[in-house]
Amino acid sequence: MRLRYSFRLYPTLGQQQALARAFGCARVVFNDGLRARQDAHAAGQSYISDVELSKRVITAAKRTEERAWLGEVSAVVLQQALADLNTAYRNFFASLSGRRKGRKVAPPRYRSRKDNRQTIRFTKNARFALLDNGRLRLPKIGDIEVRWSRDLPSEPSSVTVVKDACGRYYASFVVQTTDTPLPEVEPEVGIDLGLTSFAVCSDGTVIGNPRVLRRAERRLKKAQKALSRKAKGSRNRVKARVRVAKLHAKVADARRDFAHKLSTRIVRDNQAVYVEDLCVSGLARTRLAKSVHDAGWSAFVNMLEYKAARYGRYFARIGRFEPTSQVCSACGVKDGPKPLHIREWTCPACRAVHDRDVNAARNILAAGRVDRLNACGAQVRPGLVPAPRGEAGTHSKLTPAQV
Ligand SMILES: [Zn+2]
Repeated sequence: MRLRYSFRLYPTLGQQQALARAFGCARVVFNDGLRARQDAHAAGQSYISDVELSKRVITAAKRTEERAWLGEVSAVVLQQALADLNTAYRNFFASLSGRRKGRKVAPPRYRSRKDNRQTIRFTKNARFALLDNGRLRLPKIGDIEVRWSRDLPSEPSSVTVVKDACGRYYASFVVQTTDTPLPEVEPEVGIDLGLTSFAVCSDGTVIGNPRVLRRAERRLKKAQKALSRKAKGSRNRVKARVRVAKLHAKVADARRDFAHKLSTRIVRDNQAVYVEDLCVSGLARTRLAKSVHDAGWSAFVNMLEYKAARYGRYFARIGRFEPTSQVCSACGVKDGPKPLHIREWTCPACRAVHDRDVNAARNILAAGRVDRLNACGAQVRPGLVPAPRGEAGTHSKLTPAQV
């Protein structure tokens, strides 16, 4: 499986300037490429091929006076910026034609120097190197200090350097890891992603949002309010914006850390994990959708999926429009819809008393088992799950792939 491993970088002032230059050049090449394709389209010409585009906005551009400075950064960085543009176009076309499932993909957009997150990517061709003294050597940038919070499992195939909204630098390596199935265990679990709590398991375990996260979220909300009151263009507004960015990062870190620990524990303790598909879940289609997505469920579910694949566990999304909160998990009687404020109910048929969320989790478990039995034998697990996109730029002490 390919996974991302991220580490904090501490570039010197000179290296920061070199990185800023590289971020800028990558952005310019990306935008030049996008503009060339848009102009061609507007003029009724055919789509500019990847090779042709690279010749135009990199090779030829370097020879002109106004783009001569592109020569100051690694050519690989520029090629990779164009590769990103090409991927964005391919995804957009695939989405248009219906070959790509899921949400519609928008056409590529211009990158701005004001973007919160700046990235450049070096592949093997760029000859980046991990030095014996622990530094990361990047061509035309230098040997950067890295905080190695853990070991890389294998030689990385690429490294993305990220500068986040708070001005922190990270190196995100893509590495090949070997799948290491864990010894089999008995339990299976159904998980209901809740509103009052983060999640509820079919064995009755209620998982609340951690206190650090709640506290960080409260502070963020306050800082956002403070920011909105500051006069535009004032020094105080700049300060308030930095504060909001920092708290944002803190919330994201806490959330990711929590999701990692929880998903690891669940995958380790259960042979099979079933989760309601968020696209199908009733909540995601309602007004509650925003808070639902804020809770970071999709990132959590993705972690469950790739960790299950990696450690030889079974994972499935339960993608049916089954009203999991309306059916008695003990006898199967359908009891009709209940408003959200009803947390507990008694089954009219078998008199079982149910907690709403635990009952839902049990129904998810039951539905998952049925699906798994039906698919028995024919079940093919994908051997390679790409490192989830959300893992990019994972922060400092967090360990994305750790079990
Ligand atoms: Zn019942």
